[in-house]
Amino acid sequence: MITTEIFASELPVSERLSIKRTRFGPNKLKKGAKRISIVSGIHGDELEGQYVIFLLAEWLKKHPEALLGTVDLYPAVNSLGLDAIIRSFPLYEVDLNRTFPGGKEDFLPGQVVHALSEDVKGSDIAIDIHSSNIFLREIPQIRINAEFGKTLIPLAKQLNCDFIWVHGAVTVLEATFSHTMNTLGTKTLVVEMGVGMRVTQEYGRQLLHGILNLMKNEGLIETDETFEQRTPYLAEGGEVMYLNAPRSGLFIPTLEHCAMIQKGDLIGRIVDPLSGSVRASIKSPGDGILFTLREYPVVYEGSLIARILGGVHEEN
Ligand SMILES: [Zn+2]
Repeated sequence: MITTEIFASELPVSERLSIKRTRFGPNKLKKGAKRISIVSGIHGDELEGQYVIFLLAEWLKKHPEALLGTVDLYPAVNSLGLDAIIRSFPLYEVDLNRTFPGGKEDFLPGQVVHALSEDVKGSDIAIDIHSSNIFLREIPQIRINAEFGKTLIPLAKQLNCDFIWVHGAVTVLEATFSHTMNTLGTKTLVVEMGVGMRVTQEYGRQLLHGILNLMKNEGLIETDETFEQRTPYLAEGGEVMYLNAPRSGLFIPTLEHCAMIQKGDLIGRIVDPLSGSVRASIKSPGDGILFTLREYPVVYEGSLIARILGGVHEEN
């Protein structure tokens, strides 16, 4: 296990920006051995991925004999943001996941993303873990750009997530880590799960199993241990239904997250504590999977409450 600084820059007042990678590998790397990179913290307010990476590092330290390939861990890409729990790159206020590919002579955030993609380059597989924001909880899901669907869906199915969302090619996504790495030949999957500024232990363990499962199938580890691989729902161009709050108040969900729901099912209520009245009942406009649910209870008129994906089918 070796920890290396992949990027450093002097900050104005005697501090230093440093981005680090920890590499695990066998004592002797066999010819043709694969390399996987696990990335998180591109957004500084997302912590779920850091927990997953901790669990993975812990597993690798316990099972050094199992390792056949190289595992690179990048838990804190936006390290400055993470120190302050700020989503964007501090001072520049730019979203690092809209700044790729960047360059050596670019502004500081551009240099950071350039250093990351240069370092990850050459990996066979990369996984970029995101965790929504403080307002919304996402079930563990893989998001794939349709452009790379054919190569990525088989890998995504191994990750023990609840659902795979294949979305259309959108120009803005070209500035993301995943698009950049997929273009450079590294099969890169984006995981979205949990909620910002929090750690959901259950989801963390779920994804750990998925990553180990994928690593085993891809020959990166060799072990008798078996890992959970749940069957995900696959959504290709399915219709997303957005539910917004019709009134302000306190949102109290009535449904479990990640449920298959039917038209008319009650998702939650917006209540008014002062009068003890229910201001609105939020019901599903159609059949589908509830993959996003409001976590932050205070809502204003128009606040996003839930996202439901119609047109899903169970993947065999
Ligand atoms: Zn994110």
